[in-house]
Amino acid sequence: MIFEGKTLAELPVKLITEAGMITAVESLDTQDTSSLPYIAPGLLDLQVNGFAGVDFNTLPLNKTDLIHATEAMLSNGVTGYYPTVITNSDENICKLFQTFQLLRGSDSRLDQCLLGYHLEGPFISPNDGPRGAHNRDYVQAPNVELIKKWHQESQDQLRILTLSPEWEQGLAETIEYCVANNIKVSIGHSAATPMQIAHAVQLGATMSTHLGNGCDLQIHRHHNYIWQQLAEDNLWTAIIADGFHLPPAVIKVILKAKQDQVILTSDTTAFGGMKPGRYQTHIGGDVILTEEGKLHLASNDELLAGSAKSVLDCINYLTRANLLDVESAWDKASAAPAQFMDLSRRGHLAVGQRADLVELEKRDGILSVAKTILAGEAVYTA
Ligand SMILES: [Zn+2]
Repeated sequence: MIFEGKTLAELPVKLITEAGMITAVESLDTQDTSSLPYIAPGLLDLQVNGFAGVDFNTLPLNKTDLIHATEAMLSNGVTGYYPTVITNSDENICKLFQTFQLLRGSDSRLDQCLLGYHLEGPFISPNDGPRGAHNRDYVQAPNVELIKKWHQESQDQLRILTLSPEWEQGLAETIEYCVANNIKVSIGHSAATPMQIAHAVQLGATMSTHLGNGCDLQIHRHHNYIWQQLAEDNLWTAIIADGFHLPPAVIKVILKAKQDQVILTSDTTAFGGMKPGRYQTHIGGDVILTEEGKLHLASNDELLAGSAKSVLDCINYLTRANLLDVESAWDKASAAPAQFMDLSRRGHLAVGQRADLVELEKRDGILSVAKTILAGEAVYTA
């Protein structure tokens, strides 16, 4: 197959693909690029709780629904994602991993798009604020035996564990097990002290989950977990840049402090792509989705309950707010997560990469997906 377009840096380019892989990248000999679509590597999202009406944490989860959510992700340019299982009972965490693996094995598109799983909790802070919308009943200290069991239930496909290092009990064994088993440890939903953050990094934690969210509303001006995470050289930072989770100044500072170690995650939920309104959830009572797309707990509009946006929306927010140019913003949801997760065949327009491509239109500075290509095959056309 041959794909012609221009990169986000406006360079005319011709991609040749064979058997689902990019086999050549050539410059395209043309003066007039105005009619060419933009062409970019497929987006990767490390934190997806559901999409398009499908909640990944509500059982039973069936194939039709998972395919529907995955197709909706593809229509937003996302060609790879990590379904995120949040704080729940041992039994339900096992059932969710078993179900995902069963469905993934039954459909080639799911198998290509689901890159492994993110387990967010249950080893997080029990405190109101840092705990966010996670159910207090199931929050517990790190337990390496449980992680081993859940990793096994996922058929070794657990890839990211978000935990809080404020727990001393079980922490070292759990992080060490994860490091030895190719599971990235990310700090999140945490009320940890700066020393506990530093200790977790020494043990092998390498990322912050949605930094600046899942936090206390007020913290000490100097001795707090946000400064410490910003200061740790070995921590990458995931942010939800949807226009609601973080103010522009905070995003700007995180981008300056972390530079190439910033990853955009959507933290999107079943409400992604849905109509405004009040909805019931299993995680902590009702949530409200506003006209502008802000998703918060019905009981407190300062406590966000995940997002209703995709990473593509986050890229558009960052460029519109003049926080990043479009190329850099796109990288933070493609090349950066690929590098962080050691995905050597995803995230770039280069020979030897999977032909997971997105063709885009840009109107009034906003990118929209015209076509999504998975392993060289068009799977979505606007
Ligand atoms: Zn969270």
